[in-house]
Amino acid sequence: MKNDLNWNFDNSYSRLPDSFKENIDPIKVKSPELVILNRDLAKNIDLNFSNVDNNELSHLFSGNILPKSSNSIAQAYAGHQFGHFTMLGDGRAVLIGEHLSKDKKRYDIQFKGSGKTIFSRNGDGRAALGPMLREYVISESMYKLNIPTTRSLAVTKTGEKVIRDSTLTGAILTRVASSHVRVGTFQYIAARKNIDELKTLLDYVVKRHYPSIEDSKNKSIELLKIVLEKQVDLVVNWMRVGFIHGVMNTDNMSISGETIDYGPCAFMDVYDPKTVFSSIDRTGRYAYCNQPVITKWNLARFAECLIPLIDNDQNNAIKSATEIVNSFEKKYEKKWLNMMRGKLGLLGEEKNDQSLILDLLTWMHEMKADYTNTFCYLMGEKFEKKKYYENEKFQSWKERWKDRLNFNSSSPKKYLKIMRSFNPLVIPRNHKVEEALDAANKDDFQPLKKLIEILSQPYFQNKNIIEYQLPSIQKEKYQTYCGT
Ligand code: AMP
Ligand code: MG
Repeated sequence: MKNDLNWNFDNSYSRLPDSFKENIDPIKVKSPELVILNRDLAKNIDLNFSNVDNNELSHLFSGNILPKSSNSIAQAYAGHQFGHFTMLGDGRAVLIGEHLSKDKKRYDIQFKGSGKTIFSRNGDGRAALGPMLREYVISESMYKLNIPTTRSLAVTKTGEKVIRDSTLTGAILTRVASSHVRVGTFQYIAARKNIDELKTLLDYVVKRHYPSIEDSKNKSIELLKIVLEKQVDLVVNWMRVGFIHGVMNTDNMSISGETIDYGPCAFMDVYDPKTVFSSIDRTGRYAYCNQPVITKWNLARFAECLIPLIDNDQNNAIKSATEIVNSFEKKYEKKWLNMMRGKLGLLGEEKNDQSLILDLLTWMHEMKADYTNTFCYLMGEKFEKKKYYENEKFQSWKERWKDRLNFNSSSPKKYLKIMRSFNPLVIPRNHKVEEALDAANKDDFQPLKKLIEILSQPYFQNKNIIEYQLPSIQKEKYQTYCGT
């Protein structure tokens, strides 16, 4: 190979004890073909593809050729899936290495769909083109929405078929993450009841993600506090843009606070707190309004893993951990309220803010109003010509809102600036995502590229975005699928 793309690997996870992972290379594929490459991300992390042709890139981003300094592993982890504890691990992914950019930031480079590992159970270790492109589009959109997330560097077709309900085109996604350590990683080590391994994992995570607490007296307590803050921020951000993760199992909750695993996720159009898209989530466990509740539940599972490290006296340890986990509601409510104030351009805090916000949400729910577009309407974007914006209840709510804006003598310039930083003008609309994926499955990648471009500036008004702003006119309920 002429060029190693400037990979600067330092594979710290592969130096952890054997029980943490399986050493395994990606399984080679028949005839790889690169279909999309994220050149902006590559540039951001100091990779250089300028001397590499497409054929070589296809082999590199399918795992047929591994960088010299790579050290491929499948990571072990466990997880509560829909509330039930299971031993899992990377069943269709391998971490090929940790790349250090010039500013010494560390990035996991992971192939998803790269073949069987010892953790594959009954799975084929593979992934299909549609879901991998879906992860690419939505994760990149989340990044541009300023929400912490793993990112997508490339998607390559494998030249092989995968069998699901039908026969699909096989593909591999190259995922970039600040790490893939999950709540489930702690659960896996904790379940082994080996205190030395648990200490090793704690030290590893603190050094890698939160070096500011390295010298603290009780690292496990401090880690729990930080992860809780990160997860509160994350879920508040999801609620801000109407993102529904869809499968908030503990193995899909990252310790770094990034959104991870874009399986059955989707964005809500009509405001309904109970919205669920995932076909297997029959009880609404991961519905829009349940996301904060589940975040707390997952944090409690994380806290349980840390108990042996918190205090030699188990009762004291449980007491300290419980106190931290129970701080969740207050922190969440405060941050959620401030986020909603931002969406309405409100400066400062007033005692009636909460009722003002809840009254708008209730109205939206009653009217089946579009979540994103209602905030656009309030910012003066009148592209969605809906009769319900003229109704009396909404008009009188608007008067209250205007009074509140005047209360702090906010000028339109000031409040619109705030609103424009909180409210996206465009989100990945489900029908636009599907339309782009359908075309891609027929080898037409133009709609996908256009969609990615439109989603790359969600807070700026651009010409010709209206068709990406309108919700689907189809009455049928949108459904998403796990493990596709
Ligand atoms: P996910 O729903 O993507 O978070 O995956 C949950 C677990 O199932 C993880 O252990 C995955 O690695 C595993 N898994 C999902 N799909 C496959 C597949 N096609 N082959 C093997 N393992 C899989
Ligand atoms: Mg997962």
